[in-house]
Amino acid sequence: MGGERHRAQVTALPTPGLMLRLIREGSPVTRSDLIHLTGLARSTVGQRVDALIASGLVKEVGEGSSTGGRPPAVLAFDHGAGVILAADLGATHSRIAVTDLVGTSLAETAADLDISEGPGVVLDWLESTFDDLLSEAGRSKREVRGIGIGVPGPVEFATGRPVSPPIMPGWDGYPIPERFETFEVPVLVDNDVNIMALGEYWSNWRDCEHLMFIKVGTGIGCGIMAGGAIHRGAEGAAGDIGHIRVTDDPTVVCSCGNVGCVEAIAGGGALARQLADLGLDAASSRDVVRLARAGNPRAVHLVRESGRLLGEVLAAAVNLFNPSVIVIGGDVSHVHEQLFAGVREIVYQRSLPLAARHLRIVRSDLDDRAGIVGAAIMAIEHVFSPENVDAAIAAGMRTTG
Ligand SMILES: [Zn+2]
Repeated sequence: MGGERHRAQVTALPTPGLMLRLIREGSPVTRSDLIHLTGLARSTVGQRVDALIASGLVKEVGEGSSTGGRPPAVLAFDHGAGVILAADLGATHSRIAVTDLVGTSLAETAADLDISEGPGVVLDWLESTFDDLLSEAGRSKREVRGIGIGVPGPVEFATGRPVSPPIMPGWDGYPIPERFETFEVPVLVDNDVNIMALGEYWSNWRDCEHLMFIKVGTGIGCGIMAGGAIHRGAEGAAGDIGHIRVTDDPTVVCSCGNVGCVEAIAGGGALARQLADLGLDAASSRDVVRLARAGNPRAVHLVRESGRLLGEVLAAAVNLFNPSVIVIGGDVSHVHEQLFAGVREIVYQRSLPLAARHLRIVRSDLDDRAGIVGAAIMAIEHVFSPENVDAAIAAGMRTTG
């Protein structure tokens, strides 16, 4: 029978959590589809679907096609059965959102806030902003099922603690998840470029399992999706390409304390300093973008040179990691014509033909929303992982309302 034939497709025990994954990821499914997909008995599937419906996560949304008799009910994940709180905290500006359970924004705001104010000020503000956005979305604190937060520095992912973050004074070792304990839900914290990579992958590149997201803002960072998952490395430091050395010039001093880092020449902050030294009005990466867009020849030249330097580093990264797509975001990507010309020139010239022959280099489609989408997806994928759904159902998952 069909169940025998399909049994090999489900390697893990087909628990309610695994069935929820099938319902969340697949096209509309009926109980009969689940019997075929899992190889379980009709009665077992019935019990597990009932548990998912009782948990509020799955609902019946109409009728499938029938081969005679009563048409079977189609099952769907209930996107509205709770909300997610998401935050992308940047060096100087942040974006906060309340989303549904597939990451669609229900209420969202962006604000200028300096991360160097420290965890006390920033997280007080974040908590009150979450409260305001919940009210705006007409949802209650009780409906929150998970919280995802990105910060502009290295994070020990298992504990949600920043580790010696160069531009986040006062945050070293700070236990960010504990600050949101009153919500009694999982709180996930990661480096901002990792969540941007996840946001882009999830929204636009689900068929590309090997993706690099490059953020060119004040500094230069990189998030890596390997095999469809964030690659954090042994300590959570993977992808920190901004501190790869590209020059012996001892005057190029980086914020990390070393000399010659690519970020210290080609990052938006470094470009602004070089333009200011030439007498131009430039204090930040946004000023660099403004000047380059206005056609200032020095700004255009610098951005193009910056693209070439970044291309040197990316060519090495392409040889090492062989991504199928490089997505470039961050403020400086807003002058993509100049930046990308430099990047493409060097990457295609310097990477191995096999690594580069199908490589695409594109601008971030989500732009300054990549982080907030990724923060929400990070929380959603954790909360609704099969293991966590099974544990929650066993413990009597709360229903909303
Ligand atoms: Zn450095």
